Amino acid sequence: MEFVIATNNRKKLEEIGRILAALGHSGISLAAAGVAAEPPENGTTFAENAMIKAAAAHKATGKPCLADDSGLVVDALGGEPGIHSARFAGTHGDDEANNKRLLYLLERTPYAARSARFVCAMALVMPGGAALETEGVCEGRIGFAPSGTRGFGYDPLFYVGEKSFADITDDEKDKISHRARALQKLAEELPGFLAQQGAAAPDAPQEAAPADTLEAPLPIGAEELPE
Ligand code: IMP
Repeated sequence: MEFVIATNNRKKLEEIGRILAALGHSGISLAAAGVAAEPPENGTTFAENAMIKAAAAHKATGKPCLADDSGLVVDALGGEPGIHSARFAGTHGDDEANNKRLLYLLERTPYAARSARFVCAMALVMPGGAALETEGVCEGRIGFAPSGTRGFGYDPLFYVGEKSFADITDDEKDKISHRARALQKLAEELPGFLAQQGAAAPDAPQEAAPADTLEAPLPIGAEELPE
């Protein structure tokens, strides 16, 4: 199925497009769907914000619309930055300032207490308004210094095993990321959801990825990857 991907974050758009393709679906950008603006994210949870974005895109296009709201949850900071991840240091999308602030706040936090997770809520709104929501989580820890040049956002500080998300390849990130896990769940639930709505998928996936695509262990660190 082709989805409008309701984000103006280019990196998220790329990731979601890649993951959808691996799952036998496809995505187009808001711009390609003729939508200029995203709505204000005034929800209080990842799920609420994802639904606000998907519903607004659906209202503007009438097409199947997917939106992700995601962020970093750090245990030593009581769950912050959470839904404030994109503007943790004040300016929306200032990744460098956000990472600096995170390192500063964790300056005295020892290795064992630096546990964190990326969380992604994925919302789908179909023509007609039926909605489906899933969540994906990836467990890791905040490093003492950034590492790597790939990815975006907090990737250089988010470590799974010995490597940060900015050290690993796109393929490796797509096997374990919160975003990939949320999309995998959504793809699994989609046929039943559509059947319940009495709607057939406009075009069925050509080549769905095997069910264990996201379960395979990855050689990106010494640690076992958490579920
Ligand atoms: P949103 O657009 O409100 O969902 O903002 C999500 C923010 O969370 C981004 O701007 C990043 O700071 C952070 N974030 C979410 N997913 C990732 C990821 O995969 N890698 C790094 N940072 C992420």
